[in-house]
Amino acid sequence: MTEDTAEHAPPLTILAEDEAILRESVREFADAQVRPLVRDMDEHAKIPRALIDRLFELGVMGIEIPESYGGSGGTFFHAVLAVEELSRVDPSVGVLVDVQNTLVINALLRWGSEDIKRRYLPLLASKTVGAYALSEAGSGSDAFALTTRARQVDDGYSLTGRKLWITNGNEADLFIVFATIDPDAGYRGITAFLVERGFSGFTVGKKEDKLGIRASSTCELILEDCPVPRENILGEPGKGYKTAIETLNEGRIGIGAQMIGLAKGALHHAIAYTKERRQFGKPIAEFQSVQHQLARAAVDVEAATLAVYNAARLREAGRPFLTEAAICKILSSEVAERVASLAVNLFGGNGFVKEYPVEKLYRDAKIGQIYEGTSNLQLQTIAKQILG
Ligand SMILES: Cc1cc2nc3c(=O)[nH]c(=O)nc-3n(C[C@H](O)[C@H](O)[C@H](O)COP(=O)(O)OP(=O)(O)OC[C@H]3O[C@@H](n4cnc5c(N)ncnc54)[C@H](O)[C@@H]3O)c2cc1C
Repeated sequence: MTEDTAEHAPPLTILAEDEAILRESVREFADAQVRPLVRDMDEHAKIPRALIDRLFELGVMGIEIPESYGGSGGTFFHAVLAVEELSRVDPSVGVLVDVQNTLVINALLRWGSEDIKRRYLPLLASKTVGAYALSEAGSGSDAFALTTRARQVDDGYSLTGRKLWITNGNEADLFIVFATIDPDAGYRGITAFLVERGFSGFTVGKKEDKLGIRASSTCELILEDCPVPRENILGEPGKGYKTAIETLNEGRIGIGAQMIGLAKGALHHAIAYTKERRQFGKPIAEFQSVQHQLARAAVDVEAATLAVYNAARLREAGRPFLTEAAICKILSSEVAERVASLAVNLFGGNGFVKEYPVEKLYRDAKIGQIYEGTSNLQLQTIAKQILG
């Protein structure tokens, strides 16, 4: 873990003016534009295109894209704040924005050629949703055991294989697809390709019917001799593993942001409800055991927030952040599950029905311990660091 010194060390949770402005505008947007749709989106397992268009108008679909490419010219920390604020209200909308920014745009900014940036960044900033396709049926935690094959053809590559669990699969028009150009080379064969929805031989398959974050689409991708021009290789051939590792290290902080947003949303509902609901002649928030439960949740939320902001600020400062990102993901996802579970308990019977918002947050929390590296994989990263 980082123990460096810095000349100035401002408190982690104090926001710069631009950060505070962004947080406020996303919070207002989430309350006004997202909240009224949450139940319907969960029930129908769909985020309406009109809402996605409004996210583009708000500027949160291209946060780190420089203004010269039509983006918001913001920072990684801005993306973290936006994902957190959206996830307070709906973690499905949170993850749509998270994948767009912390995985897809991040990878293009870092690894894209000037030609790729010119062709795709203005689209990603204005109307195109992106997706990040690494996992397959046989390769999840062991991601580099992937079998999607890229065969060299005259003017590029031809991709064949199937990807599974791809977030934004339904909405995306641009996909970062990881495939191997040489199965015998192991991870050194892995290459990242940019695949457009309209490429021949590419189809979006089955959409998963899920426990939580139901409105976020999770889809299979099918590639059958899908031709991809050489210019659409992201980074260098055989270096896709590096792109995957590095973007996922950062993406994990975005999932941390999703989880603290969820936990804050659940705690907010629990506080409001316990002040209203009366039993034994008084609001249940006046019972000391309930107060202690809420206080414990606040402790959890504070700890997870500090971990997420610390990892994000380290990344922003160009300092090592690998272990801190793993810590923030595991902590925030466990906190999200605990706080959402408490909120369900404190709502009593009302916590168990869809008319109230907390059962959904409880279902949504579970994914934080699974995607972008399961909790066991995060523990492995942390153990490796502390054991040396
Ligand atoms: C809703 C959703 C959205 C997703 N979005 C995307 C996406 O956009 N793009 C993408 O590429 N993928 C995506 N994924 C895939 C996700 O990243 C994988 O599901 C995840 O990495 C786990 O892989 P797996 O499902 O194959 O589980 P497995 O790897 O089979 O793991 C099963 C269990 O075994 C444990 N385990 C595995 N290996 C070890 C080990 N070495 N030591 C200890 N324990 C171990 C795991 O911790 C887990 O508990 C998504 C998944 C879901 C459910």
